[in-house]
Amino acid sequence: MRIIFLGTAAAVSTSNRDNTSILLDDLLIDCPGNVFGKMKKVGYDPLKLQGVLITHGHIDHIYGLPSLIEMLRLSGRKKPLTVYVGQHFYELTRYCLEIYDLLNPEKGFEIMLKSISYEEQLLFKNSSISVFAFPVRHSVPNLGLKIQSFQSTVVYTSDTEPCEDLVKFFSDAELLIHESTCSYLYTRRMEGHSCAEDVARLAQFSNVKTLCLVHLGPEIDSKETDLVDELKQYFLGKILIPNDLDRIII
Ligand SMILES: [Zn+2]
Ligand SMILES: [Zn+2]
Repeated sequence: MRIIFLGTAAAVSTSNRDNTSILLDDLLIDCPGNVFGKMKKVGYDPLKLQGVLITHGHIDHIYGLPSLIEMLRLSGRKKPLTVYVGQHFYELTRYCLEIYDLLNPEKGFEIMLKSISYEEQLLFKNSSISVFAFPVRHSVPNLGLKIQSFQSTVVYTSDTEPCEDLVKFFSDAELLIHESTCSYLYTRRMEGHSCAEDVARLAQFSNVKTLCLVHLGPEIDSKETDLVDELKQYFLGKILIPNDLDRIII
């Protein structure tokens, strides 16, 4: 499994970090900013995308979608593309894409917009990975993802409060990619989001091997080394805070 962090910031980007999105093999998870350009930058051909999954309708997770589709069209994509969106903002997404006439297959390629419910389910499967979704605790309905390959299990939370109910999904994962918008060291706690210290405790309790923090608030930017040192008292495994465009092969 190849994971590339196209962005790692929370809703407010910084000079170092853009809003969080992840390229997992040929599946794009969330679509802020110029993900097309960033895929090119890391040497990935965006025309190979098999699907786009929008975890929830907050602007930092979806605002690049019309632009991505337009860039794929102008680059000659002909293959249909499946876009998974939560039922809570399905109509809004459809409306946004219709405004720019992006759902018209005659203009290039077909967008198969799939409404997904906020419950445990298998979302996507190909010959190498299966992607299961599960509900998390955010200010709007939102989904976390458990990705399984023959070799490993990776869990991505998207935006969520730290939640003991999620431990059953994290258990024994090789890699837990958890949002960490705040930290008691630098910020106040934010409703609907997680402080890094609480995440580290949950990761320890869940016996995950490596904890990877993304969706970082701007107050944390440039303080990553101090934060990792602080978290070592809560989590004994490996702690990563990736930079934008970093990759993990697992
Ligand atoms: Zn967010
Ligand atoms: Zn959000």
